[in-house]
Amino acid sequence: MTGDERDAPGGLAAVFARLIAATGPISIAHYMAEANARYYASRDPFGTAGDFVTAPEISQMFGELIGLWLADIWQRAGNPDGVCYVELGPGRGTLARDALRAASRAGLVPEVHFVETSPALRGLQRAAHPGAVWHDDLSTLPADRPLLLVANEFLDALPVRQLVRTAGGWRERMVGLNAAGAFIPVAGTRPMDAAVPDSFAEAGEGAIVETCPAAAAVVQEVAGRLASQGGAALFIDYGYAEPQVGSTLQAVRAHQKVNVFAEPGEADLTAHVDFGTVAQVAEQAGARWLGTSGQGAWLAALGIGARAGSLARAAPHAADAIEAATIRLTAPAEMGTLFKVMGLAAPGWPDGAGLNRVSPATTDRDSAALP
Ligand code: SAH
Repeated sequence: MTGDERDAPGGLAAVFARLIAATGPISIAHYMAEANARYYASRDPFGTAGDFVTAPEISQMFGELIGLWLADIWQRAGNPDGVCYVELGPGRGTLARDALRAASRAGLVPEVHFVETSPALRGLQRAAHPGAVWHDDLSTLPADRPLLLVANEFLDALPVRQLVRTAGGWRERMVGLNAAGAFIPVAGTRPMDAAVPDSFAEAGEGAIVETCPAAAAVVQEVAGRLASQGGAALFIDYGYAEPQVGSTLQAVRAHQKVNVFAEPGEADLTAHVDFGTVAQVAEQAGARWLGTSGQGAWLAALGIGARAGSLARAAPHAADAIEAATIRLTAPAEMGTLFKVMGLAAPGWPDGAGLNRVSPATTDRDSAALP
């Protein structure tokens, strides 16, 4: 779909409605990809006045500890020259600002590369990081130097594919129109049984199996580059550690969950990340999987408690806010368990601070806190 089509009268909903009326239902992946492209293209969705709040916008401590993690693994890898800081979907550029400030105190001052498709967010990023280099996708990133890569709440925005078990077997889950002209999920007509992993093939009628080929492709490309160029990566997102049946697709607008099919392009569509699968993909592509930890445990291991204490001593009037931010980032009932941190590195690079190779407990899909 071109930009002109997206801007057609009636917006994306009208474009989808015409497309479905003319050619039949579209896949969930198609719907999610176009809806998010439109959603991010023109707005700053972050913060209390926006639709959702991400960890770097909650506290500077989040980006600082990421910067220290990167500087630490870089130093223990022998301070290789010419490393690049790469961030996928940097939002307002807040995480990069905090991470690079902390990293520079540890002697790491890398070139900065951002992978970002949204013109509106690129504008905010440029104001915060005038010296950065922007990329539409990973293919144009430097290929001859180690990469220190960060992606926070990036994989969750990539389109998922869903398969649904019907009386007649597995079908792709699609988006159709009902008689009133509303978007509704429908089963496709083509048999898709061969696309369902054996472990789920006997799930009951109505069961949904969700995969994210786009997330697997990104992790595969990052892992391949780590293997050939050196470096390390952190993927942080909400997700689960073991494969599960069920849809995790959700829409959030103004801090509330809304109907995924109600207003394409006007709400943030996300799905939980299948961390077990992307870890396997990374290892198959030649990277070291350093482990996947709950965000709370990881931040605690990196010293968020001590950092919060020193910030509070320096700004006693803000002590309550710093305490509240620490709880929000780390408490199991908040972002501490549902959000996970996966570390990858080049073969020959050292282990990552705060990570271990024991899978975190599977989290209940229905207990998802709002992002
Ligand atoms: N990392 C930021 C923003 C998370 S929101 C934070 O934590 O605050 C998702 C980000 O990914 C946005 O910057 C969005 O524009 C970008 N994005 C979403 N899909 C993308 C894609 N396919 N390619 C590149 N960037 C994408």
